[in-house]
Formats: sequence, structure tokens, C-alpha cells
Amino acid sequence: MAGVYVHVPFCQRKCRYCDFYSVTNARQRGGFVQALLVEIQQRKYELEEQSVETIYLGGGTPSMLNSDQISTIILAIKEAFEVEDHAEITVECNPGDLSNVDIQEIIQAGVNRISIGAQSFDPEVLSFLSRRHDAEETREMYNDFRRAGIKNISLDLMYGIPGTTVETVAQDLAEIIALKPEHISAYHLIYEEGTPLWNDLKSGQIKEVEEEVSLAMSHLVHSMLTRHGYEHYEISNYALPGFRSRHNSNYWAGVPYLGFGPSAHSYVHPWRSWNPADLDLYCRQLLHGAHFLDRSYEKITDQLAYEEYILTRLRTSEGIDMEEIRMRFGTKCYEHTRDVLSQHLSSDHMVKKGTHYSLTVSGIDLSDGIIASFF
Ligand code: SF4
Repeated sequence: MAGVYVHVPFCQRKCRYCDFYSVTNARQRGGFVQALLVEIQQRKYELEEQSVETIYLGGGTPSMLNSDQISTIILAIKEAFEVEDHAEITVECNPGDLSNVDIQEIIQAGVNRISIGAQSFDPEVLSFLSRRHDAEETREMYNDFRRAGIKNISLDLMYGIPGTTVETVAQDLAEIIALKPEHISAYHLIYEEGTPLWNDLKSGQIKEVEEEVSLAMSHLVHSMLTRHGYEHYEISNYALPGFRSRHNSNYWAGVPYLGFGPSAHSYVHPWRSWNPADLDLYCRQLLHGAHFLDRSYEKITDQLAYEEYILTRLRTSEGIDMEEIRMRFGTKCYEHTRDVLSQHLSSDHMVKKGTHYSLTVSGIDLSDGIIASFF
């Protein structure tokens, strides 16, 4: 079992909080798709004998490609790999972009899940984040996909925005819940080093929301969404029963995946590898000369694998499994984990279910410190 990720490196313009790799020059879209097809062919041997359970087109902005290009990419992946009949195939879309996309054509190619970068319904928040859409475009895009027959839609929500209050978040949640998406990713704003937003914070032009307010916002997200039937299955992810993201769940479970496109990361044990974050170089290397992409590699040691296991699993509602730790990492790691756990179990920050240990709602507030205590 494996996953395939495609990084589509185009955005109409850069959002000031974002540090994902993308370019605003859309003229290179055709060349990018050609180079991508070469990369998929060159690297298909890396997943020999493993079936692909999920495909995810992210970015950047995949909906800046036209439906022909999206379909071509998905069909190329289906040709190169053994893709399961009921594979989850997701495309990220930004509200306002649908003019390029014939929805029926991408459904025909196999797309069955859409992730919409809504972020907020509040015009001031959208403007603060320098998003280029408005709330009406989000609703329109959502309804267009619904009418076309997409039965699995995820919406992104961002909170913790300077100048907002708990009421702003409540209003956004009410808007999202009214649409009834199957999945909601709710992220607290992060100041990524080097972004324009980070510079504004450092120069004192903006101020982070106070910690108390930030926690109240997180608690509100949890309580409103769980009250409306959403399972809080990962720190930033909520789903109606049966609609957890299979692609992301597989990442957290350590399932191998191949990432194609500039800056995309891959993991096939024991190697993590990544592509250059440079579209020009990516196209030049794959389409001209040696047709060889110069990729970077890191070997995942047992210690690193253990740390990643703790880091990703403690973010999920299943938590860490002591039996799995004993089997995968040995007795020494098992005993170390057991000792650290004993410190947390005496508080109400962690809970035990069989051999699994996970964070409680109050533990999520302290997740960074709790996770760090294992290393
Ligand atoms: S948030 Fe999305 S649309 Fe905005 S710059 Fe980043 S990848 Fe592009």
C-alpha cells in the first residue's frame, strides 16, 4: 500500500503567510506537466509491487491547471502504478479558480475528493491573509462540486488571526458547518520564518493573538465541530464518520509515498528524499540534456523513525501503540516510552485505551511540550 503526491507549483499570487514553494508565472504550466510525466515514468520502479491507495494533487494551486492537464496527470499515475479501484483521489482547489476546470472531466479521470482552501468567510480575515477570493466564491465552488456529484469535500479553516476574536471563529465555524462538508482541516495561523507575515510580526507591525484567546479559539473549534458530529481525529483535522483523509492518515501511519514535482518529498523506508524547489531547474533537468533530476536523500535512522513516530502519532486520536513500539523499535525504546508516559498519565493530559496512549483535549493544548518530553 502506498500514496502518490503531486506538487503543482503555481499560485495566482503568494499569500503572505505561506512558505510552500510556488511561482506566479503560469506560463510554465505546459512544461511542468511534461516534466512531471517524465518524472513519474523515471521513478515508477520505486513503488514496484505496491498498490497505490491514495493520490493527492496539492500545491501551490492545482486548480490553476486546466481539467485536461489534471486528467493527464492522474491517468499517467494510473498507467505507471497499480492504483486500487477505490483509491482516494484528491485535488486541492482555490475558490474562484473553476473557470479552468471541467468538473465532469476530472471526475471521469477518477477525482473523488476535493479540498477547498476556504480559510475564512470573513472579508477582513481573507484580506489580512491576502487571499484573493471572497466567501461567495467559496460557497459557489462548494456547491458546484456538490451538484457535480462529489461526495467527499474538505474545507480548510484558519484561525488565530491577529485582530480577530473568538466570535470571528464562531462565525466562520457556523458558515462551514452550514455547508456540511465531510471533512474540515482547522489550522491555527503559524508564522513561518521568511514569509511577509513573519517579517511584519518581527518588525512589530502586527501582534500575535494572546495565548489565552488562542486556546479559547482552539477549544471552540473542537467543541463546535464535535457537537456537530465531526471526529477530532488529528490535532488539525476533523471528519464525519468514514471520511477521514486516507492520504494524510497513511502519512501518519508511516505508509510509503512518492512525491512528484518541484519541492515534493517522498518516503520509502528507510529513505526520505525530496526534489529541488526550483521549477526552472526541475523542467530543465527532466526535459533537456541528461533527463535526470538531481534529488536529495536522507536515511531515516531508527532514532529518527522513533521520533517521527511519536511526533505524528501523538497528534492523532489513536495515539501511540506500545505494542507497535516494542515490535518496531525494541525493548530499550519501549522502556523509555513507558517511563515518559508515566509522568503524563498522572495528569489529565493523556489517556490510555488498551495498548494505545493519546492526548486528551487539555493535552492537545500542551502537545509541543509533551511530544518534546519523549526526545
Ligand atoms: S496558501 Fe495556497 S494559494 Fe496561497 S500562496 Fe500558499 S499555496 Fe499558494
